[in-house]
Amino acid sequence: MSDELRPVVDGDMCTGCTICVSECPNDALSMVDDVAELTDEKACDGCGICEDTCPVAAIVME
Ligand code: SF4
Ligand code: SF4
Repeated sequence: MSDELRPVVDGDMCTGCTICVSECPNDALSMVDDVAELTDEKACDGCGICEDTCPVAAIVME
């Protein structure tokens, strides 16, 4: 996974399960109005774990 990629959350697909927030090793994601959001872009290293763990594929690395 390239370290230049960052997660983009599809707010319509996100169910608000919070799994990605829990699984991010760098605490870069937070829930904002029940949708996951990359709230600490500097902390994100582009590992892609959030994309891999989202059960509804609402996260795409771009
Ligand atoms: S790509 Fe990795 S570091 Fe970045 S938000 Fe997702 S899980 Fe966290
Ligand atoms: S894992 Fe997917 S559905 Fe769950 S909060 Fe994150 S983006 Fe939303």
